[in-house]
Amino acid sequence: MGNESADRLAASGAAKETPDHISLSKGDRLLAYGARLSALSQSEFYRGVRQLKVQEPRSRTQRMVEQAELAIEAMNGYRPHPSKLWLNLKRRKHGTLTQKWCAFNWKALNGAHKVGEFWKHTPVSDRYMPCTSCNAPIESLEHIIFECRMTNQELVWKLARDLWNRTSVTFPDLNLGIVLGISEIDIKREDGSTDRGLTRLFRILISETVYLIWLLRCEWRISREADPMRVHPASEVTARWNARIGRRMRMDWNLTNQAIHKTRALNKSLVQRTWNRLRLSETGITVNVSEGVLVGSGAAERLPGRNR
Ligand SMILES: [Zn+2]
Repeated sequence: MGNESADRLAASGAAKETPDHISLSKGDRLLAYGARLSALSQSEFYRGVRQLKVQEPRSRTQRMVEQAELAIEAMNGYRPHPSKLWLNLKRRKHGTLTQKWCAFNWKALNGAHKVGEFWKHTPVSDRYMPCTSCNAPIESLEHIIFECRMTNQELVWKLARDLWNRTSVTFPDLNLGIVLGISEIDIKREDGSTDRGLTRLFRILISETVYLIWLLRCEWRISREADPMRVHPASEVTARWNARIGRRMRMDWNLTNQAIHKTRALNKSLVQRTWNRLRLSETGITVNVSEGVLVGSGAAERLPGRNR
């Protein structure tokens, strides 16, 4: 802002009849940090203010974590400590969530994906902030995953829901909080206990589904130049989703191999409980697994695990 316009602003400010409300909440926050203002030197005071400013972007993280926590509370009946979410993603416990998913989820919890409001204060905000094809002013993560007409999200969710419905357990109502907190979301039995097999299946399904939607969105936005005429065809989307789920299933069975994975091997019965409720031999997704060992393509039409 040049001197002249600054002068103009000052003049118009001075001419106001009612003064603007100036938020003093920062002061309260500083006090809450335990600072006794009278005991602070000027430089200490400014250092404190600077630290508060640096921490400002965290409020976005706090909002995302809060959404995840609310969803977990609704599903599980308890609120985990927020650190649990970060720890889950760091540890990728029990090979349920892939490394790529954990990186995506981590970034999403930080509100750090370069979508929507990320572009707000940049010169390219007109182009990158909205989803013009849907007339959405902000292309938020929520828009991409649950609303966008360009990401094929409707079809991918239908595939996920149809597969899940084979378990005869109702597919939960989804929201962004469930996606963000998926590492901690449990599927409960009627008696309130956790069904470990279905919990694992749900976490795999949701993470794989959202990740595919994210990939489709990025491909469309970047390689296909956000051209509404060049949305991925349904046949390709279906094939890719089936391939992803099939790959996860094979990975699971490979991970049960104790000779290779030693103490980190997955428990065979847990893997069985993850997949067997789906009765996959009746679907287009092939298994290619015999007694926990990958036997190559073409040997499909067999449920995972023995004695079935
Ligand atoms: Zn859209």
